[in-house]
Amino acid sequence: MYNYGTACINKEGHLEVGGIDVVSLAEHYGTPLYIYDVALIRQRARGFKNTFEQLGVTAQVAYASKAFAAIGMMQLANQEGLSLDVVSGGELYTAMKAGFPAERIHFHGNNKSREELVMALEHRIGCIVVDNFYELELLESICKEKSEKVNILLRVTPGIEAHTHDYILTGQEDSKFGFDLNNGQAEEALKRAMDMTGVEVLGLHCHIGSQIFETTGFKLAADKIIQKLSEWKNRFQFESKVLNLGGGFGIRYTEEDEPLEPAKYVEEIIKEVQKKTDEHNLAMPEIWIEPGRSLVGDAGITLYSIGSEKFVPEVRKYLAIDGGMNDNIRPALYNAKYEAILANRANDPVEETVSIAGKCCESGDMLIWDLPLPKASHNDLLAVFCTGAYGYSMANNYNRIPRPPVVFVENSQAELVIRRESYDDLVKLDLPLNVTVKQ
Ligand SMILES: *Cc1c(COP(=O)(O)O)cnc(C)c1O
Repeated sequence: MYNYGTACINKEGHLEVGGIDVVSLAEHYGTPLYIYDVALIRQRARGFKNTFEQLGVTAQVAYASKAFAAIGMMQLANQEGLSLDVVSGGELYTAMKAGFPAERIHFHGNNKSREELVMALEHRIGCIVVDNFYELELLESICKEKSEKVNILLRVTPGIEAHTHDYILTGQEDSKFGFDLNNGQAEEALKRAMDMTGVEVLGLHCHIGSQIFETTGFKLAADKIIQKLSEWKNRFQFESKVLNLGGGFGIRYTEEDEPLEPAKYVEEIIKEVQKKTDEHNLAMPEIWIEPGRSLVGDAGITLYSIGSEKFVPEVRKYLAIDGGMNDNIRPALYNAKYEAILANRANDPVEETVSIAGKCCESGDMLIWDLPLPKASHNDLLAVFCTGAYGYSMANNYNRIPRPPVVFVENSQAELVIRRESYDDLVKLDLPLNVTVKQ
């Protein structure tokens, strides 16, 4: 069962997080409700940072904000001394509103618009991760117009694709992201960028996938990149100051998942980079990483109220909750699995197996199939674990269902960081129809 951070069962048999009984959170904020265990996010952030420090490696740990992008979350990342990845003008805008130091912001994406690049330059963000030739030329032309120079990383695809348990080695990776390292594109990009006056190449970036449970893929990617860097040093006197190895460190959603300790990934990867750079006589670059899920995923819990039920004789019992694919689209999108308990009767013995349905008009809106639970009915509370990453950030208003609020809990204090959407919020962009029907 879920056993992370400050979560525990209290004397009343209720789930408690950050020193607060979640039943009282439900009474105060209503359901559905996203709850984040702030102490656990801090612990994860410090785990990554301390590992770099212990190994004496200069580093940046950038929170991939797409996992959960909100002003309060970015401020928390800043408190912990993290850097920040953004992938759109909207995430960058949120970061600026959060007062996040621009020099520690990195901008990703495979199709950044001119407006987004101009915005990034105006805010003087730390670096732009250039994805393709179109962007490289566009950025150079904007920098020339403005007589500016910006730091960039070149995103390369080393031909390793990680799929949770296994990874695929492809000669030429079929991915929409980045410059291919194997077919000469990356080298061409480097040569062009080195001739440009508006960009300064700090180094290379790669991101091989998400929810990865082992370090083999990361190490292979690092090996391939370092091999190339060695060639480029000899041929172009290019030295990479930074090597960004992306994010993708896996977390444990259910008992089937067996990730490493987050910091353990870093340790093994760094050691490999140290070994390979030594072998090739290269200076050890700064290592940047970009965890998203592994910083916030298991710190998030979604609390729902149970409502209706339906019994299909000899098949199954459905229990419906007051949320679903609106606030957690991952089961519908990727068949993602979650664990859950009754938050108000957490010590009660398991009595039956039920399936948890969302409230959207969509048969695919099923949150959990075949969940062992005590006999539950309306007004019981269901807590679904590990919903901190790609939950709120992928939330939507399908069926015009308002998005739930987000509350941070720490040291017995609760703080609302996103309020519940209202019906007025839902219609605020709508404009009344002006055309009339000609009779
Ligand atoms: C999504 C993404 C990340 C974060 O991935 P997680 O699996 O959440 O750790 C990091 N870097 C890049 C470039 C990404 O696209």
